[in-house]
Amino acid sequence: MPVPAPATWRIALSVPLPRLFDYRPADGASTPAAGCRVKVPFGSRSLVGFYVEAGTAAPEGPELRTAEAVLDEVPLFDPPLWQALGWAAGYWQRPLGEVLATALPVALRQGEPLPDTRTAFWHLTEAGGTALAGLRRGSRPRALADYLAQGERDEAALAASIGPGWRDALRRLEARGLAASILRVPSREAHAPARAAPERSPEQAEATAAIDALAGRFAVALLEGVTGSGKTEVYLAAIEACLARGRQALVLVPEIGLTPQAIRRYGERLPVPVLTLHSGLSETERAATFARMARGEGRVLIGTRSAVFSPLPDAGLIIIDEEHDGSYKQQDGFRYHARDFALVRARGLGVPAVLGSATPSLETLQHARSKRYAWLTLRERAGGARPPRVRVLDLRSQRLEHGLSRPLLDAIADCLARGEQALVFRNRRGYAPVLLCHDCGWHADCARCDRPLTLHGRHRLICHHCGHRRSVPPACPDCGGLALVPQGAGTERLEEALAARFPGVPLIRVDRETTRGRDALGKHFDALGDAPGILVGTQMLAKGHDLPKLTLVAITSADEGLFSADFRAGERMAQLLVQVAGRAGRAQRPGEVWLQTHHPDHPLLQTLVTRGYPAFAEAELAERAAAGLPPFSHLALLRAESPHAEPLNAFLAAAHALARAQGSAEVAAHPPMPAPMPRRAGRLRGQVLFESTHRPALQSLLRTLYPALFDLPEARRVRWSLDVDPVDL
Ligand code: ADP
Ligand code: ZN
Ligand code: ZN
Repeated sequence: MPVPAPATWRIALSVPLPRLFDYRPADGASTPAAGCRVKVPFGSRSLVGFYVEAGTAAPEGPELRTAEAVLDEVPLFDPPLWQALGWAAGYWQRPLGEVLATALPVALRQGEPLPDTRTAFWHLTEAGGTALAGLRRGSRPRALADYLAQGERDEAALAASIGPGWRDALRRLEARGLAASILRVPSREAHAPARAAPERSPEQAEATAAIDALAGRFAVALLEGVTGSGKTEVYLAAIEACLARGRQALVLVPEIGLTPQAIRRYGERLPVPVLTLHSGLSETERAATFARMARGEGRVLIGTRSAVFSPLPDAGLIIIDEEHDGSYKQQDGFRYHARDFALVRARGLGVPAVLGSATPSLETLQHARSKRYAWLTLRERAGGARPPRVRVLDLRSQRLEHGLSRPLLDAIADCLARGEQALVFRNRRGYAPVLLCHDCGWHADCARCDRPLTLHGRHRLICHHCGHRRSVPPACPDCGGLALVPQGAGTERLEEALAARFPGVPLIRVDRETTRGRDALGKHFDALGDAPGILVGTQMLAKGHDLPKLTLVAITSADEGLFSADFRAGERMAQLLVQVAGRAGRAQRPGEVWLQTHHPDHPLLQTLVTRGYPAFAEAELAERAAAGLPPFSHLALLRAESPHAEPLNAFLAAAHALARAQGSAEVAAHPPMPAPMPRRAGRLRGQVLFESTHRPALQSLLRTLYPALFDLPEARRVRWSLDVDPVDL
């Protein structure tokens, strides 16, 4: 009789290998449920992995090691989340262990237990009730005891009511046995919201009703609403209805969208505490938020990209605000798209998802056009605000002062004279994008990237691709000429020029250098207040505050993106222009938008300006359809880089040959080619593009190709990654 192979535990580990790892069961432990964390030896280390399934190790296989410990009785992932993550690993081609680790806050990834989320609630003891009258009037302990006599309170309430010194006073009561606390979960009872909803417009009411009608099943609704149309009000109404049904809601927002102001807006309007998840939180706070959602204590979560991994045991609704935003796509490691994953989760949970935007992605629009998504529109601005008027300024006949034309400067002067505010948009930080020798045409390039260095201030050159820095040379290295002149204008130069032209006028520059930290943007806006003034900055200004006095938006160059090789550049440019323009005239005063361009007749720009984003999107979709580009085809991109050409070319050629050998007629594997930036930080970069009109055919190729790539000897000599549905090519 053959001896049956021993049952093993197959564990997913966060290591860059596309497989599971077999272990002998931990001593005395019973088989964990799928998704439970397990501590296992790996090399000389000990790793936290995830139990996936039972396996049988081949009798002649390598010596099995024994798992060290099972860390969970119940997995951190509920069954729908576990399933969705398994799907994600398969779809975006990433080792399951790495996907699971990405989905957890770091503390949990490292094996910490799900944190205690109970809070201390304080009450007066019997002795306290008796002693109350004897405490000195006007003292803090007396105030505290009086307050507690009304009922038990958590520490946040004590701090708010008593003010500084509350903790000392509490300790004194506790030491005398007059007050005591118990730990418990805050009650889920709804409170009255701090602020009432405005009366909804008919369009808002209609959209809200349509979303309500989807409750309890999977469906996707596109909420296409012009900037300032009150999409957030529709979300809030939908969330209220979801809460009233006893369900949890998840709201995803782009990275720059989750300002303290935005959080406050949700908090004031909803009858429950709002949890948040963003890069400004500590790991302890992230783990606590995860735990609160997992236990159903948290009812509403607003967060950026990674919030899409939150447990939602009572899910009722998922909202993705600004669904077109690029920050939803993770650009390294596990390259998932949070919007797409949110939809997969909604399907698994059987709940509706709402995709909101003034400028929907072409992918989403195509789904709406083909009736896979419900298509809800808000055409009018809320509260009586009018759409801004757009003027195209032909730069070909204009003299520019540091990137600004005379008519534009006059318009800004008029705007300030009316007591209003102007926003000058330029999506380039630094002083000038190029430093040029006037005598011979030499320009300062990054030696490691072959791209121009950006001039910062007057003396520093910085590469925006690799961070390389150097100082401005005293003379042209090629001809010795002394006439090194900045070409073009970045935000710094615009700031300087505007300050010189409008002395004494408050001027605020908003870009990565002046605006770091989570509420830096809010502080800038607060500093400006309602006084006449100028904001100058990058796309950080495209989203966020309502500035009622902002009536003029100037786009200093609309030309970037018109001639790019990336087929999505036009779409991105249109979205950015519409979003920035949408800052103007959001309140009572009408807004105007000035667009400076050298190509006033460009068809993209013409369509966008004269007929708006929907018409632009229709035209783009027609072109994509004709060219067979997404959303009418599906792409995957294999990227590789190496300091040397030979290993890079060898790997790409081998990968391409492998794909050709495995591929079907339905998938095109394009020959290897250089990346759009063929060299970055001293590494040569190349890529192979896979394309198919049939998504399952592409997926089926990737399923076999991805593990096979790891086995290529050439793969060991390069850095490589596979990007499914890449957003920049
Ligand atoms: P969007 O997200 O579509 O750009 P918001 O939801 O931020 O728009 O709304 C824009 C502004 O209009 C906000 O100041 C909001 O408070 C206000 N608003 C929204 N709906 C209404 C309404 N029905 N009545 C009055 N003001 C509204
Ligand atoms: Zn020169
Ligand atoms: Zn560089």
